[in-house]
Amino acid sequence: MRRILIVGAGQAGLQLGLSLLAEGYDVTLMSARTPEEIRGGRVMSTQCMFAPSLQIERERGLNLWEEHAPRIVAQRLTVAAGPGEEAFGFVGRWDDYAQSVDQRVKMSGWLELFEARGGNAVYHGVMTSDLEDLSALYDLTVIAAGKGDLVELFDRDASRSPYDRPQRMLSCIYVHGMTPRPDYPEPHVRISAFPGVGELFFMPGYTTSGPCGILLWEAVPGGPFDVWADRPSPEAHLERTLDLMRRHAPWEYERCVDAEPTDARSTLFGGYAPVVRHPIGRLSATARVLGMADVVVANDPVTGQGSNNAARCADVYFRSILERGALPFDEEWMQRTFDAYWDHARWVTAYTNMMLGPLPEHVQRVLATAAAEPEVARRFAMGYTDPSDFQHWLLDADRADAYLAEVAAGR
Ligand SMILES: Cc1cc2nc3c(=O)[nH]c(=O)nc-3n(C[C@H](O)[C@H](O)[C@H](O)COP(=O)(O)OP(=O)(O)OC[C@H]3O[C@@H](n4cnc5c(N)ncnc54)[C@H](O)[C@@H]3O)c2cc1C
Repeated sequence: MRRILIVGAGQAGLQLGLSLLAEGYDVTLMSARTPEEIRGGRVMSTQCMFAPSLQIERERGLNLWEEHAPRIVAQRLTVAAGPGEEAFGFVGRWDDYAQSVDQRVKMSGWLELFEARGGNAVYHGVMTSDLEDLSALYDLTVIAAGKGDLVELFDRDASRSPYDRPQRMLSCIYVHGMTPRPDYPEPHVRISAFPGVGELFFMPGYTTSGPCGILLWEAVPGGPFDVWADRPSPEAHLERTLDLMRRHAPWEYERCVDAEPTDARSTLFGGYAPVVRHPIGRLSATARVLGMADVVVANDPVTGQGSNNAARCADVYFRSILERGALPFDEEWMQRTFDAYWDHARWVTAYTNMMLGPLPEHVQRVLATAAAEPEVARRFAMGYTDPSDFQHWLLDADRADAYLAEVAAGR
């Protein structure tokens, strides 16, 4: 059977590795960390995954936490008029639920499953200089190492990368003890948007100690939410979070007064420039490696799409590897495989990059209309589950206005 090397044990690498293993491929997965190190390490994401991604995992038998994690049924957007003041808001319900399983739980569990199912896991941080010799031993080498150093193998695609610096500074904390909104007690994502300042996200999740709440600040650099450079302890993070909420988002503050950090590694800080890269890494005159997921398309988490993209990318690559049969995984195949993924990812990137800048007027009109029209609220929410729908309306002012006119006419 064909030998595949995957570098990186995240959503993309593990999903692809486990999928190929089930088809009888000989898969080696190189991970910088052991399952114990991942489980006991720092949180890595807020990883809200929507129904289509959960369905892919289900089909591959990878939905190990589906019965434990809260089922997230809707998303609420609140647009602030100023500090502490709501301009408008709306809830859009999804056709099927989303879930957020702490990647510490999921990746450590999947890595153990990979080994239990006969996969070859090697615990070793791979360096660029290792890859030429390593890749010679395999039919295909896939780099799924996220935003780490190995991205240097893949050239930035300037035509698809409008930003060259982080557009948000990120700060996340996992907590126990948040209370549901009395007017909407079902688990739902809440996005509070503060134009020019940033966003605050809340989502219910499942962590190493059970169900939890996850809070993420997306701060416009230099603005009032950009206060995390000192990387405070979880307790100090929560205190600062509560102070910011009291002043800017009192509607969230009420839910958080009794919250406590879930554990000593429950916080994450950072920020990165969104980027699209060319998918083929050239190690020598003949040796080639294929980049996947965050390695080649890294969007800001402001639209919560990265893990969903990783799941989609792993699925597209998996099918493409299967279809290839015994033929060589050459450059032409690599480019075609990435292009099939980009057909979807391009819309995610376009939408996410749009949401990072000042909101275009037509988007403001859409959001204001959604506050009064449940159909628009629903379509906006469903767009998060598959952002390719946005090409038909939200990404284009004329199409968006035509859609709003249609909705108004049908009222
Ligand atoms: C704060 C924050 C919030 C987010 N929220 C969401 C959200 O709500 N919804 C969503 O869909 N996405 C979200 N994302 C994005 C999402 O987490 C990522 O896009 C997704 O995890 C990417 O998966 P991946 O497999 O490509 O990479 P990763 O998850 O980064 O996995 C890469 C793996 O490779 C390993 N590795 C790195 N270098 C090496 C090396 N040299 N050798 C061996 N192993 C290596 C790493 O240790 C890691 O295990 C968020 C991201 C952040 C930062």
